[in-house]
Amino acid sequence: ADIPPVLSGADPRSVLHHVFGYSAFRPGQERIIEHLLAGEHVLAVMPTGGGKSLCYQIPAILSDGVTVIVSPLVALMDDQVAALNANGVAAVGIHSGMDREVQLEAWEAVKRGEVKIVYMSPERLMSGRMLAALGELKIAMFIIDEAHCVSKWGVSFRPEYEMLSQLKERFSGVTFGAFTATADAATREDIARKLFPDSGTTIVQGFDRPNLKLAAAPKNAWRGQLLDFLADKGGESGIVYCLSRKFTEEVAAFLSGEGFNAIAYHAGQDAAARKTGQDRFMSEDAVIMVATIAFGMGIDKPDIRYVCHLNLPGSVEAYYQEIGRAGRDGAPAETLMLYGLDDIRMRRMFIDDDGEDQEHKRREHKRLDALLAYCEAPSCRRKALLAYFDEEIEACGNCDNCIDPPTLVDGTRHAQMLLSAVYRTGQVFGTAHVIDVVRGAETQKILERGHDSLPTFGVGADQSKQYWQAFVRQLVAGGALSINIRRYGCLEITEEGADILRGKRGFEFRDPQITTKRDRRKK
Ligand code: ADP
Ligand code: ZN
Repeated sequence: ADIPPVLSGADPRSVLHHVFGYSAFRPGQERIIEHLLAGEHVLAVMPTGGGKSLCYQIPAILSDGVTVIVSPLVALMDDQVAALNANGVAAVGIHSGMDREVQLEAWEAVKRGEVKIVYMSPERLMSGRMLAALGELKIAMFIIDEAHCVSKWGVSFRPEYEMLSQLKERFSGVTFGAFTATADAATREDIARKLFPDSGTTIVQGFDRPNLKLAAAPKNAWRGQLLDFLADKGGESGIVYCLSRKFTEEVAAFLSGEGFNAIAYHAGQDAAARKTGQDRFMSEDAVIMVATIAFGMGIDKPDIRYVCHLNLPGSVEAYYQEIGRAGRDGAPAETLMLYGLDDIRMRRMFIDDDGEDQEHKRREHKRLDALLAYCEAPSCRRKALLAYFDEEIEACGNCDNCIDPPTLVDGTRHAQMLLSAVYRTGQVFGTAHVIDVVRGAETQKILERGHDSLPTFGVGADQSKQYWQAFVRQLVAGGALSINIRRYGCLEITEEGADILRGKRGFEFRDPQITTKRDRRKK
């Protein structure tokens, strides 16, 4: 077996990053982990696919001693053990589907203290000999997966699971965690009563946060867009997230100049400055924290009324986690995400520069694609967001697209113009140049390369630069164009783009909201 990883001093987030390779917690995960690490019994109800495993695997990795995970499904157990081993975590399974010697070998490793996580079927665990043997070891936690099987009220009661209720007397000092995707209130009570030695916490985590208003928009003039967003939020506190430290300073300075109480916060500041900023955010009224994602972990301020992203977040998970810091008190809170082509380029670059694991990169690019699809969602945004987490809802009525539905127009002709300009300039130029060609700008670059004699030169002169930028973004989001980071972010035509160019498929375009309310007011 593997040597248990030495992770003393590590925190849940770094385990999430370095052991599991994920960028952010899913809704509810962090809270559950914190409870378990604090030694409190937890019953967690979380949708399937919500990421229950990490909620107990991370505390198990961070705790002294071995964690016993009871799971009813042998196949699932083997999968989990294999996945943990692949991530360098010392885990074994012990169940009747395994050869006797293999079971014995696994058990010996547990006894030698070489194993952090042991998966067992309830029958194996509840034998007198096993319980006695476990009594000799340092047990960090007992985790009961599919905990609804404990309850007669549950949908799939299992007698061997009911025996688990004997654990609490035998191991009274040990932390218990119970996890299930399906348990109504009565079942939950029953589970807690059966499993927990004394009082525990029940955490029910659906993904929907109906009090959060969702909105996203292309970033064209962030100052005006931000001021618009803040216009009706006098007296309230919120967070403005930026990607870079420098940008937080710039935005905070801008807002201060506009008369707001804004604080910059990032990991480049010394501890004292960060502490002061955090204290001010917690205690003063109407504070705007302009921060990198370094800010937010462990911030327990229930009345954060808004979160604005001035750059694209790292993933849908990160986005969800960051907006989730608003409105924890359940009262209405507003969110706005502004995203630009630069952001997309930057994110792609981060991914490409992150190590050598090609498979990992491919997955991360896919994740980013999912986020972009959310950005450009043509209908209910919450529906799109929850669909990502496999939760289905009706249109919500509390997002930008529900309140002010975007118009979809046939953009096939314009898509063809743009794609043709990309094609005819050899797919070696970035967005700015391609748009200059389409709009017929006589820049030096265009004249030098003779691009003013291309048939597509100036065919789109009647549309603004912003229009074409939005168009490129949607073509990228829709998978018709890709931005090649290896070659200075030049635009390349995909299979899908080629089909549009050849007239084999059309392109629906979301009318961009290029002018902000502010610009409109000025007119
Ligand atoms: P559940 O047991 O709740 O049905 P799992 O624990 O099997 O869900 O997790 C479902 C999927 O989500 C797994 O592929 C897991 O790796 C992934 N996952 C869990 N947490 C995260 C996270 N924070 N970020 C990204 N992916 C995650
Ligand atoms: Zn909606």
